Amino acid sequence: MTTSAFLAALHALLGPSNLLTDPADLARYCLDQRRRYRGQALALARPRSTEEVAAVMRLCAEHAVPVVPQGGNTSNCGAATPDESGHALILSLERMNRVLAVDAANNTVTVEAGAILTDVQQACRAANRLFPADWGAAGSCRIGGALAVNAGGMNVLRYGNMRELTLGLEVVLPSGEIWNGLRALRKDNTGYDLKQLFIGSEGTLGIITRAVLRLFPLPTARAAAMAVLPDPAAALALLRELQSEVGDRVTSFELIGRPCFDLVAKHFLALAQPFSPTPEWAALIELADCGQSEPLSDRLLELLAEAGVEDAVLARNESEIETLWRLREEIPEAQRREGVSIKHDISVPVSSLPQFIETCGPRLTAAFADAQIVVFGHLGDGNLHYNVFREDKSAHAYADEAAINAIVYDCVAEFGGSFSAEHGIGQLKTAALAHYRGGIELTLMQEIKRVFDPKGRMNPGKLF
Ligand code: ZN
Repeated sequence: MTTSAFLAALHALLGPSNLLTDPADLARYCLDQRRRYRGQALALARPRSTEEVAAVMRLCAEHAVPVVPQGGNTSNCGAATPDESGHALILSLERMNRVLAVDAANNTVTVEAGAILTDVQQACRAANRLFPADWGAAGSCRIGGALAVNAGGMNVLRYGNMRELTLGLEVVLPSGEIWNGLRALRKDNTGYDLKQLFIGSEGTLGIITRAVLRLFPLPTARAAAMAVLPDPAAALALLRELQSEVGDRVTSFELIGRPCFDLVAKHFLALAQPFSPTPEWAALIELADCGQSEPLSDRLLELLAEAGVEDAVLARNESEIETLWRLREEIPEAQRREGVSIKHDISVPVSSLPQFIETCGPRLTAAFADAQIVVFGHLGDGNLHYNVFREDKSAHAYADEAAINAIVYDCVAEFGGSFSAEHGIGQLKTAALAHYRGGIELTLMQEIKRVFDPKGRMNPGKLF
C-alpha cells in the first residue's frame, strides 16, 4: 500500500474540504501553542462523526499510519503536535463540536469530544446547571483534550478534575473498533473502569469521541475576595478556617505571589492593581452557594475578619468578581509577554505546600543566582504553577531547563509530590516520567499501552 492510496481512500471518505494535505494549511496544526514544537504531518483529517473516526482509524490500521489526535491544540507539553517525520495523520476533532444533550434530571451532559469548554458551560447554564471545569483556555480548548490530560483548573477544590467529572466515554480504538462506554451512571461496578484508562492517556490508547459529564446545581450566589497574607502557611490556615465555617461553599482558593502582580501590572496597564504596596502573598477566594438567604459577600467579609486578615479587596457584584479573576487569569499571558520561562505544574500534599515553597526557592537561587520564581496556583489542591525566569528571557533560557527541572522535581519528590499535576507529559516531560515513575509503574503503563496499541501508532513520542 502506498501513501497515495491511503490519501485517496481518505479523500473518498471525507471529501476535499475535510482532508488537508497542503503544508500551508497544516502549519498551524503542526505547531504547539507555546511554539516549542514544530512537527510535520502527512495530512489532517476532520471527521464529523464517530463512524467517520472509526473509518479513518481502520484506514490508518490498514496502511500502518501513525495517528496524532488533536482537539483545540492548547497543550502546554506538545501533546497534540506530531513529530518531525511527516508520517503521521493528525485526526482533528474540531468538527465534532456539538453539545448533544443536557439531562437536567440526571445532572449530566453528553458532548462530542470537539466541543469547546465554554460552549459546554453555556449550554449547561441555559439548563440551569453548572459544568464546573474552568481554566484559562476555556474558550479554545476542547473536551477531548481536557479528558486526555485530565485537566484541572480553578474549581477542582470543590468539584474535582476531569477524571471526577466524567461518567462515561465513547472511544474509537486504534483498530477502528468503537468502545461504547457512554454510560450516564454514578454507580457501575462491572469490572475494570476502562474510561479511567483513557482519561489522562494523552491520545496514546485511542480517540475519545463522546463523553457524559457530571453537572451540579447552578449557584445562585457568588462572592470573591483577594486577601493579603503574610506567607503560604497563613494562606493554608485561612483555607482550613473557611472550610470549617462554610464547607464546600469554598469553590476556589488561589495563591498568588508578588512577582505575579508585578508581571500583570507591567503587561496589563489597564488592570487596576488591588493593593499598594504589592503584597508578598495574596489569595483569591471564591464562595458559591445555592438558595442561600444571607448575602454571601457579607459572610465572606465576616469570615476574613474573624480569621484576622487585615487587608482584603471584596468583590460586591459579578463585574467586580470578574475583575478580581482577571488579575489571576492574566498571569499566564503576562508571563508569555515577559518572555521564556521554565514552567512547572507540580503538586505536593496540601499540608506540605508551604514547606515545599520554603525549601525549593533557596535551592534554585543557590544554583542560579538570577532565578526569579513566579508562584501561583491552586493552593487548595496542593497544585502550584512554579515558573522560573532568568535574566535572559529569550529561548536561550531553555539551556538550563534540565538542571532547573531536576532541582524542582527532586524537591517535589522529597515531599511525595507529582512533577505534573495539570498539564500532563506530552513530549516535554517523557524523561521525567521515566525517571520519577520508573520501575514497575512505568512497566505497567507500557504494558497497558501495548494492549490497546500493539503497533505503537497512537500519538507516538508522547508519554514514553
Ligand atoms: Zn492551573
